[in-house]
Amino acid sequence: MATRGCGVVAVRTDALAHGTTYACGGASLATVVKIKEPARMGLRTVDIEQLARSWSSEPGLEELIVTRTHSSGEKIEIPVARILGTQPGPQMTVMSGMHAGEYSGILAAQKLITGVKAEELSGTLIVIPVISTRAFMERNMQLNPVDQKEVHFIRPGIPEGTYSDMLIDTLFEVVKDSDYLIDSHAGEMAQSLMAWVPVPMRGANELSSQSLDLARGFAVEYVEPRYDLPSIPPFSVALLNAGIANIWVECGKNGVPTEQDTATHFDGYIAALQTMKMLAGDAARPRQKLLKGTRSQVNSKQSGVWHPAVKEADIVEAGQYLGQLTDYFGNTLEEFHSPTRSLVLYYWSNPAINAERRPHGYDWHNGLVSLLDLED
Ligand SMILES: [Zn+2]
Repeated sequence: MATRGCGVVAVRTDALAHGTTYACGGASLATVVKIKEPARMGLRTVDIEQLARSWSSEPGLEELIVTRTHSSGEKIEIPVARILGTQPGPQMTVMSGMHAGEYSGILAAQKLITGVKAEELSGTLIVIPVISTRAFMERNMQLNPVDQKEVHFIRPGIPEGTYSDMLIDTLFEVVKDSDYLIDSHAGEMAQSLMAWVPVPMRGANELSSQSLDLARGFAVEYVEPRYDLPSIPPFSVALLNAGIANIWVECGKNGVPTEQDTATHFDGYIAALQTMKMLAGDAARPRQKLLKGTRSQVNSKQSGVWHPAVKEADIVEAGQYLGQLTDYFGNTLEEFHSPTRSLVLYYWSNPAINAERRPHGYDWHNGLVSLLDLED
């Protein structure tokens, strides 16, 4: 983040002690201009071990980069903002960018940092706008570029593991004192996704009901309570085990951060803060339907070119045509049909299907349609 330009090329010179030096693409050094680093980009870094004692006891906004170095030498960097309210209250964390190409939540989280004032807040608000910064800066979809892991499927508590294991462990260390947590997701560039909020329904009744309350302010058509442990991502389970009510929000598709999707995330955060009495005002209660069903995913066993015939949020009947896989020339390799009457949560809109690329067994590059079986 130290170098910025006009979107083309930024050239750093040695004169960095008093600010960052910029040059735009094609410019000669004669046209280089000096701009003082803005205070908000101060990049105060704090090692994870020092984080707890680094926060100020004064109400207000603080921003820092939490760091940790993996045994491989690769560095973990997680930006964390904390707003300490002038009134006492619980702690809520809002985080996004676990999957680095899911941008609507990232932009909404940024808006939250500037939108919530300490004078209006009861309690503490932690905002982590981008969790997977390494993947974000490499424009890497879904998987962590260092070890090719899907971080949503990793549980915290294994800092001695791979880079992603340490990343998720570090994240947990940052958020573990929260009472509530909202994790914003969307569809990656390859995924056309409908907006919905899954809610983990494990642990004490009170915890489940708080998690549902967090979801009630999001203007999405469906809220999906999940009861089965295997259907709940390990990070969410770890949060519940630590007594933290939590949800993950899916809103936005194809890696395009629209104003509407960003607003859905943001308005949902505000409603959750109001629901938990951390902000004044009546929380929005948009009309939502409860979804019940079992997740399944239609995958391809062979590589090819995918031609989907459904859209996200479609309800497909048992046996309904979902699309076909062709070879490079357009010759049909296989046709796919829905196993049951199902809701299309998302489908892969990207035609490139690579059945050989299965890092850590994850069916990411051979997925075609993700369904919620409605017959249960
Ligand atoms: Zn995601």
